[in-house]
Amino acid sequence: MTLRLTRRFVHQLFIRRYASKDSSITTTTTTDSNKDLTTEKSSEISTVKRAFTLINPKTVHEIKRIDDTPIKNEMDLIRHRLTENRVKNIPIETDVLIIGGAIMGSSIAYFLKQRSPDMKVTVLERDWNYTTSSTVLSAGGLRQQFALEENIQMSVYGAEFLKHIRDHLSILDEDPVPISFQHNGYLLCGSEQSVKLFEENHKTQTSLGAKSKLLTASMLKEKFPWLNTDGIAIGCYGIQNEGWLDPWALLNAFRQKALSLGVLYLNAELVGFDKSKRVWADGTIENQLDKALILSADDNRIYPMDSSFFINAAGPWAGEVAKMAGIGVAGEYPVALPVEPR
Ligand SMILES: Cc1cc2nc3c(=O)[nH]c(=O)nc-3n(C[C@H](O)[C@H](O)[C@H](O)COP(=O)(O)OP(=O)(O)OC[C@H]3O[C@@H](n4cnc5c(N)ncnc54)[C@H](O)[C@@H]3O)c2cc1C
Repeated sequence: MTLRLTRRFVHQLFIRRYASKDSSITTTTTTDSNKDLTTEKSSEISTVKRAFTLINPKTVHEIKRIDDTPIKNEMDLIRHRLTENRVKNIPIETDVLIIGGAIMGSSIAYFLKQRSPDMKVTVLERDWNYTTSSTVLSAGGLRQQFALEENIQMSVYGAEFLKHIRDHLSILDEDPVPISFQHNGYLLCGSEQSVKLFEENHKTQTSLGAKSKLLTASMLKEKFPWLNTDGIAIGCYGIQNEGWLDPWALLNAFRQKALSLGVLYLNAELVGFDKSKRVWADGTIENQLDKALILSADDNRIYPMDSSFFINAAGPWAGEVAKMAGIGVAGEYPVALPVEPR
């Protein structure tokens, strides 16, 4: 079920690269303005040398060690993967390229790699301090009180995942950094007009395994004597699986685990895509994303990277990333992704 969920999730997020081998198709490269950004020939960056033998070369990217620590066994390798600074080169290709390495990008990377160890997964994150990422700005609240079934299901799953975080995100014998989960129910209050809605939502939540309780105004007053209940007719209080956690710790737990599984994190920014036009036999023209153009924070140069899938996990900048892929661009996919930073 989890695999199906992941696939569905991934399909929603993927900007699918068209990779048809249909002979009725011809591919012509356009003069895309992004191309001007490329400062290195791909032949120059494809000569990456592996400095040590990997346990399973198929499961990890070709990476170059930039220190002299010997790698003797798998434990050493995993510890090394956690020292992300050692990865200096940028591979020329990957199976999945995730744009944005905060909580969404890192958790997607973890789930993909955990289920498909052979898959090459690369995460691009332009700000390793995550100064403006919503993840670290958030209050870290977890609640089950939603109206949409999908939201409730995701939140119930999230709570279950967090309960077993040691099983999921421990590395070797070490527990993940404590996420400091504080149990405390959310209290949502409504006026007379909201009573029916509260009851319907409560029914949906209960049917999906969420634990919350409806309270009348007098029950609210009894339970929360400090609460001014004027105008309040109903309340819904979370009994289980609600509270808040430390988002920075959770982000690091996902990130470290993903690194330990062989996900490659690059301190780099997606600045565009190399595109080509695909002309079908019936004359239809389709745009194809060929390569991601990546600005490396290491040397401030732009590298092209091939990938079968691109995942947009850029948070508030998801609209910008989508635009780079042609979503919201006249003549390509005119309907924009309505997400922008405030
Ligand atoms: C003030 C506040 C409070 C919140 N409180 C809660 C809460 O209590 N509970 C809750 O569940 N949610 C809360 N949220 C929402 C939650 O924080 C977000 O839904 C979640 O963090 C989104 O994660 P993300 O990984 O999608 O985005 P982000 O955390 O924003 O990460 C996006 C990442 O993409 C990177 N990026 C962007 N563009 C590029 C590019 N071109 N190349 C490379 N990298 C790029 C950015 O640097 C960033 O690190 C809150 C949000 C805010 C702002």
